[in-house]
Amino acid sequence: MTTFIPAIALHGGAGTILPSKITPEKEAALHAALRSCLEAGLVLLRDGASALDAVTASVMALEDDSLFNAGRGAVFTSDGTHEMDAAVMNGTTRACGAVAGICGPRHPILAARAVMEQSEHVLLTGEGAAKFCASAGLEMMTPEWFGTDARREALEAELERRRLNLPDDGDPARKHGTVGAVACDMRGHLAAATSTGGMTAKLPGRVGDSPVIGAGTWADDETLAMSATGHGEFFIRWAVGHEIDARMRWAGQDLTRAAGDVVAELGARGGSGGLVAVDRTGTVTLPFNSPGMYRAWCDKSGEIRTAIFSD
Ligand code: ASP
Repeated sequence: MTTFIPAIALHGGAGTILPSKITPEKEAALHAALRSCLEAGLVLLRDGASALDAVTASVMALEDDSLFNAGRGAVFTSDGTHEMDAAVMNGTTRACGAVAGICGPRHPILAARAVMEQSEHVLLTGEGAAKFCASAGLEMMTPEWFGTDARREALEAELERRRLNLPDDGDPARKHGTVGAVACDMRGHLAAATSTGGMTAKLPGRVGDSPVIGAGTWADDETLAMSATGHGEFFIRWAVGHEIDARMRWAGQDLTRAAGDVVAELGARGGSGGLVAVDRTGTVTLPFNSPGMYRAWCDKSGEIRTAIFSD
C-alpha cells in the first residue's frame, strides 16, 4: 500500500481583515485558535485517522470558538435569528451530506455528517432538518447559546445603515465569515468540511455556497478537496469547487494554478473571498482575493503555519 503524507488546511473566514482593525492581543488569540483547531485534525491524521474524521474534528473546534462565524458565534439574519449551513464530502466515494437554515445542533458539521451517513439524501433544510438532527441524537443548544455581543452589534450596525438609507460601502466582505477544513490522509483519501452562519443580516431563508456541493464544498481523490469562504452567491454562480476540479481534470492544471486562477477571476467579477484546498500529493493552496483570510495549514513539509493577512 502506498503511504501518503498527511496534509490539512483550514480557514476561519475571509474578509476585510486589516492589521489596523485588530489589536495585537486579538491577533495573538486568533493565531492560537487557528493553530489549536488545526491540531485537532492533524493529531488524528498523524495517528492514521481518515481525512473525513480529521476535517470533522477541526471544524468542530472552529464551531466551538465564538471568534468564528459558525456554531457558537454565528452571525444573525435580518430577523435576529440564526440560520446555519454546513456540508461535508468524502473524496473517495463522493458521499456527501449537508444542512441549510438550521439552528439547534451545537455542531452543524455533525448534522451534515449525519445526513451523509444516516440518510439517503444529500441536503436537508429547515424544519425537516431540525427533526432529523434531533432523531440523530445530536447535542442541541438554545438559540441564545449561539449569539455573541459582537455579532449582535454587527447586525444592529447593518440594520441601522439600511434604516438610514446610507450607502453600502460596497464591501460585502465585512459581512461574511465561515469555517472550513480540507485534508489528505495517509491512504491518499481527501475530504472537505464547511460550516457557517452565513452573512450578517441575510434574508431569512437565504442559503449560501457552503452547503452547495460543487460550490463552497467539494472533494474528489482524483483532483482536490476544497472549502470556500466569501460572498456565497458568487461562489454558487461560478460553481467554484467544481470549476477547479474541471480545470485540473480536463485541462491538466495543477491545484495551485487552478484554484488561484478561479479565485482571482471571481474577485475580478466582484466575488470576494477565498478557499483552502489540498490534493493527494499533500500540496496545500490557500488563495483569497479579500484583504485577509484566517487560515492555518500543514502541508507535506510537516510544518504548521497560521496567517491572517496577505503575505
Ligand atoms: N460563504 C458564506 C455564505 O455566503 C459566508 C462566508 O464565507 O463568509 O454564506
